[in-house]
Amino acid sequence: MREALDKTTMKNREIKYSVENDFNLNGFTIDEIGDSHLLTGLETPMVEGAFDLSDSEKKEVIAFHFRAIMEALGLDLNDDSLRGTPLRVAKMYVEEIFSGLNPKNKPKVALFDNKYQYKQMLVEKNITFYSNCEHHFVPIIGKAHVAYISSGKVIGLSKLNRIVQYFAKRPQVQERLTNQIADELKQALETEDIAVIIDAKHLCVSSRGIKDETSSTITSFYGGAFESAEKIAELQNYIKD
Ligand SMILES: [Zn+2]
Repeated sequence: MREALDKTTMKNREIKYSVENDFNLNGFTIDEIGDSHLLTGLETPMVEGAFDLSDSEKKEVIAFHFRAIMEALGLDLNDDSLRGTPLRVAKMYVEEIFSGLNPKNKPKVALFDNKYQYKQMLVEKNITFYSNCEHHFVPIIGKAHVAYISSGKVIGLSKLNRIVQYFAKRPQVQERLTNQIADELKQALETEDIAVIIDAKHLCVSSRGIKDETSSTITSFYGGAFESAEKIAELQNYIKD
């Protein structure tokens, strides 16, 4: 435990992390940025050596710090109901809701020849996913629709769902989630003809802050053949419930 904690502390020093950094973002303060969601790039920002700690070491460190958060809030960690929470949260972070940060959990994709000679678009629609907003660490709940046109290869349908789930299980912003799924599909299917549409509700918008319960956010990626208005219209016709 001590060792795992020391390792992360050292890492934090290496990247010159300081509390001041938290309050100085591109020259803005966190209050000026408010709830605006900044997007930095396609890759999820991670430090070098992000997986130097084993999963069980990560769980120990997270539980330790989550306990400190609860204590700072004034909660009584001796209470039977609260006692197990730090470790429960740590397990949930590492094994479930943030498991998509670790490349070892990436779904393996096997390609098959397109024996059916199916040349039209294939659409997998209404893929339900749960992600978390990286600015507030509260849930993003949505549906993803993905489509591709075979370049001669096909993948199992469930892999499309698994790819969506893998990238959803990270702290995310919806724009990046959309592009990461598209990028992975391009590489896995060896084609540019990919479309991804995501319609999601952000709990940081509905349950707090502006408290808008009805709005949802739509993002899309259209690549290759999907850049034509005709293909976009065809796809939208398929996914309109
Ligand atoms: Zn948020």
